Amino acid sequence: MTDLKPQKSQSESQVFKQCSKCKHIKLVREFQKRARSKDGLKAHCKSYASIYSDQYYQAHREEILIKGKQHQQKHKEKRAKYIKQYQQKHKIKLATYKKQYQQDHKEEIALYKEQYYQEHKEDLLVQCLCHQCNSKKGNTGVGDQLRLFG
Ligand SMILES: [Zn+2]
Repeated sequence: MTDLKPQKSQSESQVFKQCSKCKHIKLVREFQKRARSKDGLKAHCKSYASIYSDQYYQAHREEILIKGKQHQQKHKEKRAKYIKQYQQKHKIKLATYKKQYQQDHKEEIALYKEQYYQEHKEDLLVQCLCHQCNSKKGNTGVGDQLRLFG
């Protein structure tokens, strides 16, 4: 019988403990440890603690949610303000940089645009195939197409 620690509080009564909240007699391992208390355990059992925290959440749900929202809102405003300030501060710099970039890469941009247009020409040219619209545009495509079938 040496596996039992010879502590005063580990008497037979300490195998079980009555929960101060739900009044059930439970095993001591059903209680959370609490260094400050006399028996080193909390007065109420673990299941009560979880129910209690759940109840607390339910009872204060709105409060908790509002607090979270307020925090987010506050943070959001702060962030937006910061971004605005940054943009304001660097407005001229950014505009100059953009202009400079466009100036420096004028040909590249034009080339890219042209390339993009060539690659997506058919997608971009979604047009009406009726005779009126096509003749207005001087497009003989429909005639050619019809000739294929004729
Ligand atoms: Zn309990």
